[in-house]
Amino acid sequence: MSESRNVSTINPFDMALEQLDEAAKLVNLDKGLHQVLAHPKRVLVVSIPIKMDNGEIQVFTGFRSQHNDARGPYKGGIRYHPQVTIDEVKALSMWMTWKCAIADIPYGGGKGGIICDPKRMSEGELERMTRRYAYGIADIIGPRTDIPAPDVYTGGKEMAWIMDTYSALKGNYGQPEIITGKPLQIGGSLGRAEATGRGLSFTVREAANRLKVNMHTATVAVQGFGNAGQYAAQLLEEQGAKVIAVSDSRGGVYNKNGIQVGALRKHKETKGSVIGFAESKSIGDSDVLETDCTILIPAALENQITRKNASKISAKIVAEAANGPTTTEADDILYKNKILVIPDVLANGGGVTVSYFEWLQNLRREYWSENQVNDKLDKNITRAFSDVYSTHEKYQVNMRKASTLLAVNRVVEAIKIRGLWP
Ligand code: NAD
Repeated sequence: MSESRNVSTINPFDMALEQLDEAAKLVNLDKGLHQVLAHPKRVLVVSIPIKMDNGEIQVFTGFRSQHNDARGPYKGGIRYHPQVTIDEVKALSMWMTWKCAIADIPYGGGKGGIICDPKRMSEGELERMTRRYAYGIADIIGPRTDIPAPDVYTGGKEMAWIMDTYSALKGNYGQPEIITGKPLQIGGSLGRAEATGRGLSFTVREAANRLKVNMHTATVAVQGFGNAGQYAAQLLEEQGAKVIAVSDSRGGVYNKNGIQVGALRKHKETKGSVIGFAESKSIGDSDVLETDCTILIPAALENQITRKNASKISAKIVAEAANGPTTTEADDILYKNKILVIPDVLANGGGVTVSYFEWLQNLRREYWSENQVNDKLDKNITRAFSDVYSTHEKYQVNMRKASTLLAVNRVVEAIKIRGLWP
């Protein structure tokens, strides 16, 4: 079944620019530096010709956007989706710059993507496309320049092919530090698979503390039940919350008495979707967003919470596992309704933080225990949450504006200190 996605006229790069404009106003940013941040440093478009299983040649289009590297090498995932666009990739790379600055890890922002429908491709076609894409971008990525990672519909398998292709091309020795999100056997990190969901669960814990929300009586709705959504749901359940609604691309399920996340994951593994889960009633994807709950987790794709449905959201906390799920107009509505939005750049920063830990382990040829990884992640995300929350209180702005403001300040400081050359 092909992936459905809410077709939207909102251009993600326009949205990213709007967010930057607002932050620039708040910090009184120099016009020239504002322009520097409004343009990715480099965007590469590659055509990817491969032989399909039927013998025909098909040409896919791939992108790699490198937004800013003032604080360190570009870092960001690679997305496979039929609706990938150059503007989406550019926006995501800018958000990665902010995300790395908020997490205070020494990276800039990058992002990649291929316009394709991976669900309709064989394993062989996927491998040939991935390797050809890696070949196409090999000269602009590198362990000290640009370190990709997984994103929507890519995972350890694709990362391994990219690492292998890059290593073969560049000196023919294993270079695990070229990419993160790898399988454990070739230098992946313990705790990486759960990292995004785990980081999100820490930010929700911190938000609940500030808002005096009791996690043992809290209810959770999750849109999107992939890597980020599944672990977020499971870890919030472990904190005592009750997951009551979950959806994926095929539909949603609801049970006011609670859905056991482990059982739902098994169901999705065998049936390919959450739909048809025992002891639940089926609901639509939009119903999940509007579910009466304490914590809402958008964990699918962008532009899901808009002007049209924002006022129907009743959660106290919206924690964005997905990138860009809330539009600027919706943000204002949620802020007016006193809903605390933990923005993507903070809420899902656990993924890139553990990617950073993976990279450090690879560079040092070390392996850390899962506890070491999780403890470091907890400290890092808790500090990031606290930095953003105090900025939000100080400037009396929503958490997204506070995040962008904090990030812009950190990136601008680095640009100023380094200076412009040539
Ligand atoms: P994934 O491919 O593992 O899962 C995506 C899920 O969303 C699937 O369950 C899919 O069925 C569902 N989905 C797609 N369209 C939907 C729709 N219209 N309604 C409801 N569900 C829908 O991807 P992921 O890695 O979990 O990423 C999800 C989001 O989280 C993306 O925005 C991604 O950029 C972001 N993110 C992920 C990570 C990570 O480490 N995985 C890190 C940071 C951000």
